[in-house]
Amino acid sequence: MKEVSTILDDIKLELSATLNAAEYMLWIDGLTPVCCSTTDIVVCAPSSNARDTLEANYAFKFLDAASKAGYPINNVHFITEDEKSFFIDDSAPTPTEIPVEPPVHKKHNPFIPRYTFDNFVVGESNRLAFVTAQTVAENPGLNDGLLTFNPLFIYGGVGLGKTHLLHSIGNYIMENNPSLNVVYVPTETLTNEYFASLSKYSTDKDAYRNFREKYADADVLMLDDVQFLQKKGGLQDVIFHIFNDLYNKGKQIVLSSDRPPKDINDIEDRLRSRFEGGIMTDIWTPSIDTRISIIMKKLESTKTDLDKDIVYYLAEKINTNIRELEGALLKVIMFAQLNGRKPTLELAKEALKEKEISDSVAVDSNKIIAAVSEYYRIPENDIIGKKKTKEIVEARMIAIYLVYDLLNLPLINIGQIFGGRDHTTIIYSRDKVINSLGTNGKNDKAVKDIKEMLNV
Ligand code: ADP
Ligand code: MG
Repeated sequence: MKEVSTILDDIKLELSATLNAAEYMLWIDGLTPVCCSTTDIVVCAPSSNARDTLEANYAFKFLDAASKAGYPINNVHFITEDEKSFFIDDSAPTPTEIPVEPPVHKKHNPFIPRYTFDNFVVGESNRLAFVTAQTVAENPGLNDGLLTFNPLFIYGGVGLGKTHLLHSIGNYIMENNPSLNVVYVPTETLTNEYFASLSKYSTDKDAYRNFREKYADADVLMLDDVQFLQKKGGLQDVIFHIFNDLYNKGKQIVLSSDRPPKDINDIEDRLRSRFEGGIMTDIWTPSIDTRISIIMKKLESTKTDLDKDIVYYLAEKINTNIRELEGALLKVIMFAQLNGRKPTLELAKEALKEKEISDSVAVDSNKIIAAVSEYYRIPENDIIGKKKTKEIVEARMIAIYLVYDLLNLPLINIGQIFGGRDHTTIIYSRDKVINSLGTNGKNDKAVKDIKEMLNV
């Protein structure tokens, strides 16, 4: 039986792959483990407000993530600190009958169990990326003088399987070559870790050293979503050096991005040429046949039956993003279960119609922040964070204005969404944008384009 803290960590990892960064930071990151049984898990939320939101909006996502992470839990209970004593009795002696794992020599596997090569459906659109990823997993650092797969640079649009392939490499190596040190990190996390280590530098010199060592000691280093690298504060310099050291030592580097290196505006040329120096493979939108195979594979793994015409309807309708395809499939299955009906084509249409409507009406602050982030190409964390560079402040003000304009929320709540800012700061940003509209073409265009992205 695993420790509840390990279980919660695994579930968080899975959630971090599906929720957007702001949502994750706001609701999930602060959860702490309390206890669990084979069917239930109890976790502690930082406030009663958070507990209520979690119960209302995140219980299902949490359980879904738990099952994806390999824990067939039926219930999650969100509680607050003062309810904890009800669940854990400090005075009780440690029960000995609970099966405790023998001292583990095996490393904890940080990779999402479901993201494996076996679970990846291969089609024309992703074959090259799949084959190169597999080659790298089998022979990390391979360089036979003719062919070099170092670095492997995988690029393609959102929801097309880049993160899945990176985790597949990780899972494969953990299984077949466990002595290797495989380090995977989303670029946003790397950026946050770097700045956090620098800010601690005056009191804790080790923080920066630990940061560097973590990456410099990798046998395989995987950096996800490198389009989020920013041209600021020396991080690119550090990455350049780590990159060169690893490369010279024959260690494997794997990178993913939503676009090719030549289209990433914010990276220095020397880093760009390193990114381009190995093998670059792109993933494009899957064909209808591949989309059908993906649905069939998901049905097989969840042991669900669905008529062919429904499968075809879904594959036809959701034709760009596989994450959305999975979401639509889940929606149809859940809709049938909740209504106690057998899934039919009619029902599928009904279930998805609702999705379309809710997608266009239910704009929430997460979607607004995500759209602003995409528009300005600035990580969501920075939009709600404290950084004060011109570009970030500009994007943040537009985001604040849009949240104000589109969601009828109290200013205090808007302040909370934007990292606990005071309501006077919110008023200031809001008014600054309002006053600029009609006179500042750039802001006019941003507001118009982002609203279009949000379908409002
Ligand atoms: P990206 O990182 O490119 O945005 P992800 O790797 O997160 O996309 O993939 C989104 C979802 O689609 C994941 O649940 C993933 O398992 C699934 N997926 C993507 N491509 C495939 C594929 N070829 N076969 C099976 N599942 C896939
Ligand atoms: Mg990804």
